[in-house]
Amino acid sequence: MRVIVVNSGSSSIKYQVFALDDCTSLVEGLLERIGTRDARLKHRRLTEAGDWEEFVETRPVADHREGFQFLLEVAARHPAAHATPAGVFGFGHRVVHGGEAFRDPVIIDDEVIRRIKDLIPLAPLHNPSNIVGIEVLRALHPDVPNVAVFDTAFHQSMPPKAFHYALPRELYHQHHVRRYGFHGSSHQVVARAASIHLGLPTSRLNLITLHLGNGASATAVQGGRSIDTSMGLTPLEGLIMGTRCGDLDPAVPFYVSRKTGRPLEEIESILNKESGLKGICGLNDMREIQRRADEGDAEAQLAIEMFCYRIKKYIGAYYAALGRVDAIIFTGGIGENSARVRKESCAGLNGLGIILDDARNEQASSGVVEISSEDSKVKILVIPTDEEREIARQTIETIRRATHKKGHLP
Ligand code: AMP
Repeated sequence: MRVIVVNSGSSSIKYQVFALDDCTSLVEGLLERIGTRDARLKHRRLTEAGDWEEFVETRPVADHREGFQFLLEVAARHPAAHATPAGVFGFGHRVVHGGEAFRDPVIIDDEVIRRIKDLIPLAPLHNPSNIVGIEVLRALHPDVPNVAVFDTAFHQSMPPKAFHYALPRELYHQHHVRRYGFHGSSHQVVARAASIHLGLPTSRLNLITLHLGNGASATAVQGGRSIDTSMGLTPLEGLIMGTRCGDLDPAVPFYVSRKTGRPLEEIESILNKESGLKGICGLNDMREIQRRADEGDAEAQLAIEMFCYRIKKYIGAYYAALGRVDAIIFTGGIGENSARVRKESCAGLNGLGIILDDARNEQASSGVVEISSEDSKVKILVIPTDEEREIARQTIETIRRATHKKGHLP
C-alpha cells in the first residue's frame, strides 16, 4: 500500500507518494506559482526500471482547489509503476498551526477540521491552504484516513522563558498568546540527519538549524529538543522571508495605520504578503533576486544583505542561548542551493569559531555536505530537508496506533 503526503503551502503544493513497507518514494511532484497564469507542475514517477521519469506541465491556476484538480489529473495520467499494491493506507497532511491544542499528529475528523479552522487567525497564509488539501482528499477518498502533522509540535519543548511574550499574562491564559514556532518537521529531520552524519547521538548535540525557503526560520536545538525558535505566535516573526517581514518594532502597524488611514487587517496582509524580500526589492524568488543583484540592481543587493544579516544575528543569539554549538545546518530551497546566502550569513563569525570553506560551499550540490573549513570549531552543514518522509513516518505511526487501539491490527 501507499502513503501520500501533501504539503500545501502558500503558493505551492508539494506531494509525495511513499511505499508503506519501506517508505520508498514512488512519486513526487511540485506545483509552483499558484495564483498565476503560468503555474508549473513538475511530476516525477519511479519507473519499473528504477529510473525517475519526469513530466512538466504549465497552465493558469487561480487557487489551491484548481491546483489539486490539476495535479490529480496529471497523477492519474502518469501513475507510479511499482510492485507495491496500489491501495492508499493514508494521507498525511502538513498543517502549519496546531496551537496548544495539537501536540502530536492526529487522525482528521470533522472536529479536527473545525479546530484547525479555529486556528486560521494564527496562520492566515497557511492553514486555509492546508484545509483545502484535507477537504479535497477526504471528499475524493472518504474511506482513507487522513492525518494532520503539525509544524508547531516540535517546538512544544521550548521553556517558558523562550515561549512567553512580555505581555499582560491574561493574554496568554485567556487567548493563548505565546510563541509557537513552525517548520517543526524540517528542523527535527535535519537535526536527526546531522546526528547521523556527525556520528553522535542527538542527546549530545547543540545545533542551530536554519530553514531558509520562501518561509524561513532558525531554531536552537539542544539534545534533540527545540529550546528556542525564531517564528512566534504566527509564522510572521523572525527571519526575513519571501513576502513576510520577520522581526519588526510592534509599533510599526499602529503608526502606519495612523499615517495612512488603512485598517489593521490591510496592514497585516501587507506584513504577510507584500513585505520581506518582495517588499525590499519587488521580488520574492531568491534565484531571480540573485540574478538581479549580479546585474548591479541595488535593491536586490540590499535584499540579500538584509536577509543574511538577519540570519547572522540569529546565529549569534542562539549561540548565546546554547552556550556551545556543534553545528550550524542550512536547509530549505535557499539554504540548500544558495552558496551566496550561506557565505554572507557566516561571514565575519570567525571569532565564534564559525569558518566557512569557500570551495566546499560553492561545490555543495546534493545530500549532506560539510562546508566548514578544517579549523572551524563549529561544523557547517548543508542538509536537504525531508519533511515529506518525516510526515509519512508520523502518518503511518498515527494510523497504526489508532488501529491498534481499536483492536484491528493492519
Ligand atoms: P522553498 O520554500 O523551500 O521551496 O524555497 C523556495 C526558495 O528557494 C525560493 O526563494 C527560491 O528562489 C529559492 N531557491 C531555489 N533554488 C535556488 C537556487 N539554486 N539558488 C538560490 N535560491 C534558490
